[in-house]
Amino acid sequence: MKRRDFLKKAAVGAAVAGASATLISCGQQQEAQTTTTAKKKIKWRMATSWPKAFDTIFGGAQTVADRVKAMSGGDFEIIPYAGGEIVGGLEVFDAVSQGTVEMGHTASYYYIGKNPAFAFDTALPFGLNYRQQNAWLYNGGGLEKMRKIYAEHNIVNFPAGNTGVQMGGWFREEVNTVADLQGLKMRIPGLGGKVMSRLGVTVQVLPGAEIYPALERGVIDATEWVGPYDDEKAGFYKVAKYFYYPGWWEPAPTLSLYVNQKAWDSLTKEQQEMVSTAAAEANLNMMVDYDSKNPKALKSLLGKGVEMREYSKEIMDAARKEAWALYDELSASNPQFKEVYDDWKLFKADSDTWFSTAETSYASFNFK
Ligand code: CA
Repeated sequence: MKRRDFLKKAAVGAAVAGASATLISCGQQQEAQTTTTAKKKIKWRMATSWPKAFDTIFGGAQTVADRVKAMSGGDFEIIPYAGGEIVGGLEVFDAVSQGTVEMGHTASYYYIGKNPAFAFDTALPFGLNYRQQNAWLYNGGGLEKMRKIYAEHNIVNFPAGNTGVQMGGWFREEVNTVADLQGLKMRIPGLGGKVMSRLGVTVQVLPGAEIYPALERGVIDATEWVGPYDDEKAGFYKVAKYFYYPGWWEPAPTLSLYVNQKAWDSLTKEQQEMVSTAAAEANLNMMVDYDSKNPKALKSLLGKGVEMREYSKEIMDAARKEAWALYDELSASNPQFKEVYDDWKLFKADSDTWFSTAETSYASFNFK
């Protein structure tokens, strides 16, 4: 219903714009030219980090493209490309920053090598859940802080998707203690990878399309990806039967839409509103998509003999301790990380107190 109402409003808006264009063309030549320029058709390329087969996560990119096209009456077209089609899945940042493409859809924590503060744009181990993350980004000053850093790289960023709390990955062998993690080769990106590394894991970062072959060939012993729906599609259960939870390193990773600054500046205010609105819709749609597809996929995986395992308290405690120690170290060595972290930490403390009351009480009683 909401989408239909929105479309109706957008249609009325377009009709009004059409009428005023006609009026202007009768008398004011200069303004008429401006209107003509604004009506110029635009075709943009969007590089993404995702294989198209992952319709949930690639769906975030598609939502942005579809909504902008609909809102512009077809005048503003964005073509999303899979990781590797234009640039590699982990090269989206550079492609947008350098203007190779106008837009990108990716996870900012792939780029913590450039600046660890980018992790805040996606997720931190033992960080915020979906609602906390949105509250921080939209209302808690988070987006503003992130944009200041992205501006140094000619990128305007938007939250544009979320997977919710992820699963803790696929393992060939059970891992019960920190000792079991020693020397284990695991694909895990972001600061989660850094924490795993501190726990003794040999960490690898591979884009989505390269994970299954690596796990199948034994190049890695374990991998994390997203959750039941995406992971079933990827087929990890065929080569590793233990499915761990929770993905404590990704309590609610935000996927980000990047726009090249120069390309952004070339848009009219209306077109900028379209991009911004479409990104916000992708941020909701993807979560809805996951929340409706994961339950069925979980059931299906259980039917295929997958063994579910909860991370032991020993591993969780050790991981959390290392995570907070890591944040203190990064704060000491990187002023930008510190600037974001100091605010984020205060926001999280208050938010956790609130979430640990009604939300937690309801969830722990009713989900069992
Ligand atoms: Ca993941």
